[in-house]
Amino acid sequence: MKISGVKGMNDVLPAEVARWHEMEAVARDVFALHGYREVRTPVVEPAQLFARGVGEATDIVNKEMYVFEDKGEELLALRPEGTAGTVRAFIEHGAYVEGPQKWFYMGPMFRRERPQKGRYRQFHQIGCEAFGVAEPFVDAEQIALLDGYLARLGVRAELRLNTVGDASCRPAYLADLKAWLTGRKAELCPDCNDRIERNPLRVLDCKTPSCQPVLEQAPRLLERLCEGCAAHFAQVKAGLEALGVAYRVDPRLVRGLDYYVRTAYEFTSDALGSQSAVAGGGRYDRLVETLGGPPTPGIGFALGEERLAMILEKAGRAPQERRPAVFFISADAAGALEALRRAAALRREGIACELDPRGGKFKAQFKQAERVGARYAVVLGENEVRSGEAKLKDMQSREETPVALDALAARLRG
Ligand code: AMP
Repeated sequence: MKISGVKGMNDVLPAEVARWHEMEAVARDVFALHGYREVRTPVVEPAQLFARGVGEATDIVNKEMYVFEDKGEELLALRPEGTAGTVRAFIEHGAYVEGPQKWFYMGPMFRRERPQKGRYRQFHQIGCEAFGVAEPFVDAEQIALLDGYLARLGVRAELRLNTVGDASCRPAYLADLKAWLTGRKAELCPDCNDRIERNPLRVLDCKTPSCQPVLEQAPRLLERLCEGCAAHFAQVKAGLEALGVAYRVDPRLVRGLDYYVRTAYEFTSDALGSQSAVAGGGRYDRLVETLGGPPTPGIGFALGEERLAMILEKAGRAPQERRPAVFFISADAAGALEALRRAAALRREGIACELDPRGGKFKAQFKQAERVGARYAVVLGENEVRSGEAKLKDMQSREETPVALDALAARLRG
């Protein structure tokens, strides 16, 4: 019986993995340049962590979390996002005593969403969290980091920027927003109606076309920010301008949870279709406290690797797989054994090489050399073993040059 993979959970096959390696290697490099250090946390956490750390009012926790019981112990969950676990680890290990910290993570996340293009049930995020700095230039630095990361990969994405205020300006605004939305209830979609009471800010984020003209007219927090939030926002923008990062202020971009404050941002790409966000982030100055740590401001983002891979694929950027420098072709039993030995020796020297352990016809072996993209082929048989000399055949030009087998490594490196 054939067993298929779980719906919404994808295999990344070897030909595609090279792209993932590139996304991750560039991330590690860019993050290290900015002082972000990697943290690895479990994919399973107490369900309670996400209820508190992401919020019970969110779809992610409310509807989409994979929750299970571990033999009568506390309820566990597959992590739906990376921030809550990172913050838990930050608190649990007392990392805050060392002052401001910049951490990053990468790995699989799980949400029971309706699978569609760009939306999966297991997907992968790369995320950064900067703890301990409330000042706006850390926001600008982090946004510029993400912008620079995407640029390094040749991706052009639009940066949308907003502020969601804080405890001094948001509550009064929310009350007005709720009243205003309630008055326009009939014109809004069922999802919006659902959210008016629970999470009115999220209504602004609705993507349903018929809601757009209504929501465009909704009252805007941007016009009613308190002094502190207005100053913070101005400084974030000034920082981005100083760093040459282009942005568009989008007054309807939100982060729907109470502990999110001030800066909210998202990078979107037309290449993605309806699920257009490749990364999103925001400031969460009360999250560490909410999860039982000392008051510690923070700001973070998460980027979707599947979506980034889609953009790269669409842009026609071929994944760069490492190809063998040389493919050994065996002419007889002595050659086959020599090929095995020579390949091992070259690999010890850091040179990728390949052979066909099945031996067989020359033609089939050459075909195999072509298929794996080898740069050169070397035929080995009794004669070559005896003389220590062989021919190095350029697989592209078909040109053959003599080479001493002991000089192969130097030759391939040169
Ligand atoms: P979020 O954690 O919802 O703010 O998402 C951050 C980023 O993760 C998004 O911009 C997407 O690129 C990616 N993402 C979120 N949910 C999914 C999903 N179900 N499937 C694929 N990518 C996702």
